[in-house]
Amino acid sequence: MRATVMYGAGDVRVETVPDARIVEPTDALLTVTRACICGSDLWPYKSMEPTEKGRRMGHEFIGVIEDVGKAVRTIKRGDLVVAPFAWSDGTCEFCRQGLQTSCLHGGWWGGDLDGGQGEAVRVPLADGTLVVLPVEQDDALMPSLLALSDVMGTGHHAALTAKVGPGKAVAIVGDGAVGLCGVIAARRLGAEQVILLGRHPARIALAREFGATDIVSERGEAAIQRVRDLTGGLGAHSVLECVGLEDATVTALSIARAGGAVGRVGVPQAASVPAAIPTFFKNVTIAGGPAPARAYIPELLPDVLEGRIEPGRVFDRVTGLDGVPDGYRAMDAREAIKVMIEV
Ligand SMILES: [Zn+2]
Repeated sequence: MRATVMYGAGDVRVETVPDARIVEPTDALLTVTRACICGSDLWPYKSMEPTEKGRRMGHEFIGVIEDVGKAVRTIKRGDLVVAPFAWSDGTCEFCRQGLQTSCLHGGWWGGDLDGGQGEAVRVPLADGTLVVLPVEQDDALMPSLLALSDVMGTGHHAALTAKVGPGKAVAIVGDGAVGLCGVIAARRLGAEQVILLGRHPARIALAREFGATDIVSERGEAAIQRVRDLTGGLGAHSVLECVGLEDATVTALSIARAGGAVGRVGVPQAASVPAAIPTFFKNVTIAGGPAPARAYIPELLPDVLEGRIEPGRVFDRVTGLDGVPDGYRAMDAREAIKVMIEV
């Protein structure tokens, strides 16, 4: 089969790899129909040391079940399913509390396992991991259903951990796909004011359509001052940090009001949390981490099916498998917000 392999920074290839197959009785074998490229895939794309072995890529996908192992109970051949960006058993201590990204027996796609940016995937712990979609494959909802595998769940997680609620002033650092889904999530949870910090015109326009009330395009100290001005001098109740770079984290912590909360979903690129002392004296909660997307799919799915939210609008480019290397380039150059792959 064909799949995407990264060999080092800037070196993404689509090539023939060993066919995906069932290994454990709890596995399912899935043919990928849709996948996408993630902002987090761009971190190794910028910095990965060259390797001969390469790393399989992709952790967001929808597909059709071809076969299941003997112990699989809830997933069957022919099901159309969405996979969250981590696999999990659904039964351990952490899964039962809705934190599947800390599953005691789970793990991450790609690396030595199959990735989503390929023709097929061996899915470990299929019963715990996959969610059956009650729609046909060519459904117009497919982009928004695919967004449930990561970006919409991640935006929702940022909003929940930042304690977004009715009437609150929310600020979102980052105008990528996750930040834009954060706008959807904040409005969905009842936020009154949603301030997006971003500069890219197409992204700002989409943020406004998703319900952002204010846009802050300044940088650094000027951005911090603008958010304070927009929030009566106090700062935001809830801040969604959707970038992960140190500067973005400093901005996020600086625009939270006293007693507020920051939900971090950008993978941190710095070794420590900055601005510790002012954050301490403001009693700001710092929360967040990898979103348990598996826990949020059942909650968000009805909103997608009934058209109340349209996170699939973050996809502004579609390609086949052969176009994946150029999709990485386009996202890295910020020509595309997020690239969908039709396999
Ligand atoms: Zn678990």
